[in-house]
Amino acid sequence: MSKNYRAELVGVFGDPVDENPTGVMEEAAFEALGLPFRYLTIRVRREELPGAIAGLRAFNMRGINLTIPHKIAVIPHLDELTEAAEIIGAVNTVINEGGRLIGENTDGKGMLESFAENGCEVKNKHLVILGAGGAARAIAVEAALAGAGQVTILNRTLKKARELSEMIANRTGVPSEGLPLLPEVRVPEGTDVLVNATSIGLYPDTGSRPDIDYDSITPGMVVTDVVFNDPNTRFLQAAKKRGARIINGLGMLVNQGAVNFKLWTGKEAPKALMERTLRGEFGLD
Ligand code: NDP
Repeated sequence: MSKNYRAELVGVFGDPVDENPTGVMEEAAFEALGLPFRYLTIRVRREELPGAIAGLRAFNMRGINLTIPHKIAVIPHLDELTEAAEIIGAVNTVINEGGRLIGENTDGKGMLESFAENGCEVKNKHLVILGAGGAARAIAVEAALAGAGQVTILNRTLKKARELSEMIANRTGVPSEGLPLLPEVRVPEGTDVLVNATSIGLYPDTGSRPDIDYDSITPGMVVTDVVFNDPNTRFLQAAKKRGARIINGLGMLVNQGAVNFKLWTGKEAPKALMERTLRGEFGLD
């Protein structure tokens, strides 16, 4: 019987990239399903991106993840964008469909899937997002495309909050407002889902949390964080004390990886295994 030793290659291009944990969970998933895929964590300097994309085409890689500083810079090198990636204006996943490179953004999809796993739907809900960077943008756009009733953006730099909310309203028709993230700011009344999409609380700054009025969080709210290491952030701890339902950022990370997995392999990802692998990697068990 003839054997096939050829690997299907995927991976991540970034700089810095050494501590990106995605490869660990993707490789565990490939192995569990017996798929001939390999995930490579590759340092690609900003100026080397065109060469790296040419290499991806030459190696006929199945796809790639992009992280800092390539999520926007990669767009001119692609043949097509999904609707969400085009509106978000950033790509974190490329799928190579027979030589055509398609750009997708799975960050917001990962968060919405994590909501769904926890019985939280965004349709007709009022989402309040702290932050207006890449993660906030992806979550805001996906929530709007999924039928959110209202999206409010609070950001330290007000101009960015306003630009994002105007873009959401114009591109998706969902009412959106941009407000300043001022010290002790109250969470707006009627908030259903509150998201910390700032980088506050990210390792090694795990003692920090966004400076909001935590007394304005009510038990009816779902509260979530994009920060995943450590997932038990001070923001979520405070929200839990107020009686809110909390969803941690590990769910977003696992689910965006699961979406990538399916786009590249066509198979459902073994999410429980991927989460266990990450928890082990982060020393959480
Ligand atoms: P960006 O640099 O694009 O955005 C950072 C955001 O945080 C900005 O809105 C910035 O406000 C705000 N911010 C940072 N520091 C402060 C501060 N001290 N006070 C107030 N606001 C602050 O980063 P990303 O959006 O790409 O990433 C944000 C976080 O999301 C990171 O922790 C990242 O690890 C995480 N992430 C998690 C994922 C997951 O799967 N769980 C996926 C993707 C990202 P300003 O505009 O005023 O500077």
